[in-house]
This record gives sequence, C-alpha cells and structure tokens, in this order.
Amino acid sequence: MSDKVKIKVENISLLLEENENTQKILDNVSLKIHEGQVHALLGPSGSGKSTLLYTLNRLRQINEGNIYIDNIETRSLNILEMRRRVGLVMQKAIFFPGTVCDNILYGPRLIKEELPDPNHYLQFVGLSSDFGNRDPNTLSGGQQQRVSIARALANHPEVLLLDEPTSALDAQACEHLEEVVTNLCKEQRLTVVWVTHDLHQAQRVAENVTLLYQGKVQENGKAADFFEHPLTPEGRAYLEGRLGGVE
Ligand code: ADP
Ligand code: MG
Repeated sequence: MSDKVKIKVENISLLLEENENTQKILDNVSLKIHEGQVHALLGPSGSGKSTLLYTLNRLRQINEGNIYIDNIETRSLNILEMRRRVGLVMQKAIFFPGTVCDNILYGPRLIKEELPDPNHYLQFVGLSSDFGNRDPNTLSGGQQQRVSIARALANHPEVLLLDEPTSALDAQACEHLEEVVTNLCKEQRLTVVWVTHDLHQAQRVAENVTLLYQGKVQENGKAADFFEHPLTPEGRAYLEGRLGGVE
C-alpha cells in the first residue's frame, strides 16, 4: 500500500495578540498526515489540538508556515472547494436551520449535484430513517454527533477532521463510530485527523500520532512506537497522566 502524504504541515505558527502580549497558540508545528490513515492529535486540554485541526481547513488562519494538501498550498485553493474536500466534525455540532435530511443534503445542494439518498448516510452512522425529518437540535448529544458525521460524509470528503467526536457517545456508539471511520480509511482511502484525549481510542484507531503540548509538537510518529517507547519526557508524562492541561 502506498504511503502518500495527504497533508503536510510545515513550520506553522498561530499567534494571538492580547494587550501587549503575543501568545503562540501554535509554535513552529510540523507534521505529515498520510492518505488513508487515521492520525491522532493528542495532548492535554489547552495544548492547541483544536486550533491545529481548524487550521487544516482554514477555519483558523496561520501567521507563519504553510499547509499543503496533495502538495498544493491550501491558501491557493478555493475555500468552498477545500471545505468540501476537507470535512469537519466539531466537538459540539452546529446545525443549519431545517431537518436532519436538510443538514445532510446541505453540501450536495450547494454544488447542485444529483442529490444522494440521505438515508444511506443515516444508516451509515447507525441512525434509522425516522430521524430524517427531525429537527437536529432536539436530538441527544450522541445522535447530533452522528448527524454531524453523516453530513460531513455526504460531501464525499477526502479528509475528515474529527474534534473529540465521541465525547458525547456511549461505549457502544463510540465503538460503532470507530469502526465506521476506520473502514472508510481502508475501503475508500479516507484520510482522518482525529483529536482525542482517550489514549485507548488512539491506540485502537490511529496509525500515527502527534503529541502537542503548549502549542509545540512533542512527539510525532507511529502510534505503536509512541505508546511503547515515547521519546520525550513530555511523551512519558502524558502516557502516565502527569502532563497537566490548562482550563
Ligand atoms: P485543545 O483543543 O488542545 O484543548 P485549543 O486549541 O482549544 O486547545 O486551545 C489552545 C490554546 O489557545 C488555549 O490556551 C486556548 O485558551 C487558546 N485559544 C484558542 N483559541 C482562542 C481564542 N480564539 N481566543 C483566545 N484564546 C484562544
Ligand atoms: Mg479542543
């Protein structure tokens, strides 16, 4: 199987100006994300995981460095086209007005392609077609998260960005989602960047991991290597639950 680099993040920094202070939310971050694999972003709370994830579809702007998708610098891509190719599932879903089906069909309608059957995507995430006509805001957290994933998949993304997507799911739903996503990687070469604070989940789903701490990359590499032999004191501390986050 090829080991093609799908996303290359090269020396990016993201600065936040506050009063006289400049805070580096991301500090000279570099990593490579391979096609058809799950890449987990790890790190304690406040380490910059979500910010890094959101730079990948340009929801957050970087101040330094470059991000390439298929070797093309992302600032040169049409933003709508890029957001279709790079789907995002946020920690807490925000829905467009309308039903679950409207939300799933939102992307396909934008590009006026022949509309897919939304039930296909509902079924994919383990929801029955009865949910199609519901207002998504009336669903449970776990159900909302599944709709959010179905909506992202209906755009046929090449890359899926997941920000702690299972934090509102029970164990069974979590296992189902992990299976759905890892199958998409294997069968359709979907590339996934998965923010999680659950080390067991990262071990189950990820081929590669990046550990962030205070906006810097501490470890980058194969998941199996990281979990067995972390290379840095921060890596060891994180695996032992001793690397504190900020709230
Ligand atoms: P994580 O997802 O790892 O918990 P985040 O990427 O959400 O971390 O945040 C990283 C750091 O950046 C935190 O210290 C957070 O407070 C800060 N931060 C992120 N976005 C903003 C913002 N828009 N305004 C102020 N601070 C921010
Ligand atoms: Mg976060």
